[in-house]
Amino acid sequence: MKEMRNRSSLNIVRLHEDTGFIRDIVSSSEGARILSCIQCGTCSASCPVFEVMDYPPRQIFAMIREGMKHRVLLSITPWICASCYKCTVNCPAKINITEVMYRLKRMCIKEQIVSKKTDASRFYSIFLNQVRKSGRTYELGLMFKYMMFHHPLKLLQQVPHGISMMISGSLSLFPEHIKNAKVFHRITDHALMLEKV
Ligand code: SF4
Ligand code: SF4
Repeated sequence: MKEMRNRSSLNIVRLHEDTGFIRDIVSSSEGARILSCIQCGTCSASCPVFEVMDYPPRQIFAMIREGMKHRVLLSITPWICASCYKCTVNCPAKINITEVMYRLKRMCIKEQIVSKKTDASRFYSIFLNQVRKSGRTYELGLMFKYMMFHHPLKLLQQVPHGISMMISGSLSLFPEHIKNAKVFHRITDHALMLEKV
């Protein structure tokens, strides 16, 4: 009896979790057609990087439909996705797979879900903050900040490469700033507001 009660309360929890996650995705413009997935596997077969993903795209869509929120958000698949749009072009159900991958990444960042299998979300955050500040990428600063906090020992190994790249002129010592940075900030602020999940 106790076990049945536990099981039914677990089901209630799972139902709430599942419903919220699926609703979030299905109600978005990117995921509106996700329930039409026929599990044909064309997306996985088209994907040039599926071999290094932990779950191929077809499986990610099956898990989303099952409401397996944490397994999906802890997967490295969205972070490995190279945004080539091959799967989206080939999907017979016309599901915007690439944009769903972006949505999953935004959900991870918003809910601060960080997979132990990849630190790509941290890299993205550092990159975004930097571009928002100057309007340009600043490779030296990006690599320094990222590696200093996440791979300090590897940073030392990279110093000789960095110096030779600076000497050859392919790495700039100082960041460059665009003109009208204020206008650019307004554009990025607006884009971030639109992208809120
Ligand atoms: S190609 Fe489209 S329909 Fe087929 S498994 Fe992938 S998402 Fe589903
Ligand atoms: S967009 Fe991403 S998931 Fe789709 S085929 Fe390209 S790399 Fe694979």
